[in-house]
Amino acid sequence: MVIWHLTCVRERERGERRERERGRGEERGEGERRERGRGREERRGREGERGRGGEGEGEGEGEGEGEREREREREERGRGRGEREGEGERERVREGEERERERREREREREEREGEGRGGEREGEGEGREGGGRGERRRERERREGEGEGEGERGRGRGTQWCYQSQYSCDDTCRDPIHWAAQFPSCGGLRQSPINIVTSKVHMNNALQPFTFIGHTSRINVTVENKGHSAHFALPQLVRLTGGGLPGQYRAAQFHFHWGGMGRPGSEHTIDGERFPMEMHIVHIKEPYGSLAEAEHDMAGIALLAFLFEEAAEDHPHLDAIIAALGRVQNNGSSTVIPNFRLSDLVPSARDLHSYYRYVGSMTTPGCEQAVAWTVFHRTLSISSRQLDDIVQQCRFWTGQPMMDIFRPTQPLDGRVVYRSQASAALKGGLQLWFSILPAVLGTLLH
Ligand SMILES: [Zn+2]
Repeated sequence: MVIWHLTCVRERERGERRERERGRGEERGEGERRERGRGREERRGREGERGRGGEGEGEGEGEGEGEREREREREERGRGRGEREGEGERERVREGEERERERREREREREEREGEGRGGEREGEGEGREGGGRGERRRERERREGEGEGEGERGRGRGTQWCYQSQYSCDDTCRDPIHWAAQFPSCGGLRQSPINIVTSKVHMNNALQPFTFIGHTSRINVTVENKGHSAHFALPQLVRLTGGGLPGQYRAAQFHFHWGGMGRPGSEHTIDGERFPMEMHIVHIKEPYGSLAEAEHDMAGIALLAFLFEEAAEDHPHLDAIIAALGRVQNNGSSTVIPNFRLSDLVPSARDLHSYYRYVGSMTTPGCEQAVAWTVFHRTLSISSRQLDDIVQQCRFWTGQPMMDIFRPTQPLDGRVVYRSQASAALKGGLQLWFSILPAVLGTLLH
C-alpha cells in the first residue's frame, strides 16, 4: 500500500514536472524543436506502454494498471505453456472464454467509435432518409444505448474507460491520454491529432480551394448531449460541405468544444506552441459512409473543421445560447435541445474562410481513428473572459468531476507535412492536385 502510494505520488510529480516543462516551452514559443522533443518524449511513453514487460517502464504507469498488465501477461504465458504441454480440455475452455472476452472487447470499442458519428444519424432517422440496412443497425445500437449501455455507463466501474489527464487521479484507474494506446491501438499510430502547427514549416498548396457550406443558415433544432467527456451538438444531414480540396461531399454529424479551465487555455491544436482558450470542432462524414466506423478506413473519410477561439473584450453574441444549453446537460447522458439554431451564428461564411491549414490526422478521442482530413482555420472566433469562465463550469465528466481541460496533448508530426491554402487561390484542377499530394504524404510516412 505504501509502495503503491509512493509510486502514485512520484508519478504525479513527474506529470506535473512534464506539464511545467511543456508550459515553459510554450512560453518561449520554441516551435518545431520543442515539438520534436515532446514527440520523442511521448513516443517513449508509447513504447514503454507497448513493451510493458520492462518493469522499470511500469513505473510510469499507475500501479493498478501495471498489476493488471502483469496479470494478463501471466495469463498469456500460462496459455503458451498449456499449448506446449497439451494440457487439454480445461485449457481450451479457458481459451474459449478468453476469445469471447476479446470479441466482446472489440465489439465495445467499435460501438464507442460509432458513437462519435451517432448524432447526425439520429437526426437523419427523423427525416426518413436512411436505407433499410443502415437504419436497422442504428436501431439496434440505439436499443442497446437505451438499455443504459451508453459510453459513460459502460465505463463506470470498469476501470478501463479512457479519460483526460485532468480526470486522472491515483484512486482512479481510468486511462489518461498517455495510456490510451494500450486499449485503443490507433492512438499510438503515426498520424495522430492534435498537433502543434509550426507556421514557418507549412507548405503553400494551391489545391486547397475555398469551401462551400450547405445548410449553415438554415434554422435547425440541435440536440445537445453530455457524452461524459464532452458535450456533443448533433447536426442534421442537411448541413454539408464540399470543396476545400476534399474529395467529395461530406455531411455534418456534430460539433463540440475543447476548453481549459480556471483561466487555463484549452485548445487542442497549438500554433507555434501557443495554446488558444478554446477550440470548436465540426465533424463531417464523407458520403456515402453512414458512420465513423464505416469511414475509418478512408484517410479522408472524416473532415474535421477546427476553429480556434481568442479572448475578446466583448461577449460573443451567440455563445450564451450554447452556454445555457451546456448548463442543462450537467451530467453524463443528459440532453437538451437548442431550437432555431443556425450554424452561421457561430461559423463565418465560407468566403471569409479561404485561409486554412490542412493535414492528415486522427480523431482526438479514442479510438483515435486515422481517417481525418483536418482543417484548422486561420481566422479565429471570439469569446469574452466571462463567457470562458462560464462555459467551463457547466458540465461534469462521467467520473463526476467538473469537465475542465478537455484536450488531448499535441502529438508528434512523424514526418507529416502541414499545408496551407493561399487566401486568394482559386486554381482549376485543384482537387486533382490535392489527390496527387496524398500519396506523397503517405510516402513520407512509410519511410
Ligand atoms: Zn474534438
